[in-house]
Amino acid sequence: MARLCPEPTLPAVTDGAIDREGECTELLQALIRNACVNDGTKESGGESRSADLLAGVLEGPGLDLETYEAAPGRRSLVARIEGTDPTAPTLLLMGHTDVVPVNPEHWSRDPFGGELVDGEVWGRGAVDMLNLTSSMAVAVRRLARSGFRPRGTLVYLAVADEEAVGEWGADHLLTHERDAVAADYVITESGGIPLPSPAGLKLPVIVGEKGALWGKLRIGGTAGHGSQPYRTDNALVTAAEVVRRLAEYRGEARIHDVWRHFITSMGYPDEITEPLLSTEGFDEMIAGLPIGMARQFHACTHMTFAPTVIEGGSKINTIPDLVELEVDIRTLPGDDEDAAMAELRLALGDLADRVDYVPFRYDESSQSPIDTPLWDTLATVTQRWYPGSETVPYLTVGATDSRFFRRAGSTAYGFGLFSEAMTFEDYGVMFHGDDERIDTASLGLSTELWEAVADDLLRRD
Ligand SMILES: [Zn+2]
Repeated sequence: MARLCPEPTLPAVTDGAIDREGECTELLQALIRNACVNDGTKESGGESRSADLLAGVLEGPGLDLETYEAAPGRRSLVARIEGTDPTAPTLLLMGHTDVVPVNPEHWSRDPFGGELVDGEVWGRGAVDMLNLTSSMAVAVRRLARSGFRPRGTLVYLAVADEEAVGEWGADHLLTHERDAVAADYVITESGGIPLPSPAGLKLPVIVGEKGALWGKLRIGGTAGHGSQPYRTDNALVTAAEVVRRLAEYRGEARIHDVWRHFITSMGYPDEITEPLLSTEGFDEMIAGLPIGMARQFHACTHMTFAPTVIEGGSKINTIPDLVELEVDIRTLPGDDEDAAMAELRLALGDLADRVDYVPFRYDESSQSPIDTPLWDTLATVTQRWYPGSETVPYLTVGATDSRFFRRAGSTAYGFGLFSEAMTFEDYGVMFHGDDERIDTASLGLSTELWEAVADDLLRRD
């Protein structure tokens, strides 16, 4: 989406008691106005605009800056505070600079206006994830300017192309510029939304994500004349039944470790906890939940099949002999492609032999352990803002750049700090949704969080 960017107004750098919230708000507004919309094509994104903007913000004493351009316009920025002890761990704070497309007609305000209205910044990327990209930059700048000299190295990465498949961003950097971004610990989106529970406030830390298997089903038939359809072998009619079966398929819930830990810590009454931790009664239990939560809980515990694109037929008076159906399959930790194919066959039943599966792309599920120093740091420092809260592990059902880092051996979590104005339900709806916005208090909080995490983790003996 082409858009002229207004000259960004950069937050002023001053020492001492700077208003984190104000600084972060201005930076977020500028990043939203840059409109780095990634539609999945190589030519889209234009993240160079935001990489350059952030370089301007970060330039100065205490920080080494480097940019990497995987393809024209697809620039990522790395800023580094080198640690004093080469054996100490490295922490990477990673925010993406691209955003997904919008349908402006469905928005109440300009999606790329970055307006500040009643304490909220509006615009595409306000929660996914320019909010954190901004607060990480502000925190790193504040640390550098304050003379922060950690034992371990602190790296900030403003990365391109997260909203497609990372080919021009994280995947590229880890393949070709590994030394620039390699880290023991990585924090990126998307966790930390305060979640009230009967057992107190919980702060979900994303420790893993589902896998994605993308491909198409080729559904054959026999060509014939549209004027005599009786008992014809119409590929479109077969495809309709395939779609129906995928939509109605109800696989068994998988009660994995992360899910068990999460549900157990919520302190729900037994009549809720037991079915949520059992393959029996799980579906009946979630049927009564609010729809956003039900979808999350279902996706978190099931391999899912979403038919999304269909193409077929050639002429109104011809019975089609081929229909192609794209299906988005999401797998759980531990599943491989064979497991996905076996469950697909189960969903299709006796139609399984009538279709051919053509895979396009497979991204395996990934997961990090929770018995790590980074987990301990998050659990400890969050007490400053939410005393008595508890960090709990959670599995994201989407994909983030964490997967590339987990495969490279890093411990990667999705986290952030938000005010209680941001609810789990609102956050879920605004993610890639309309009227995306964030309260400025959350921006100040996450800026403080990054400073505290870096201080706790990198200075620790
Ligand atoms: Zn994101």
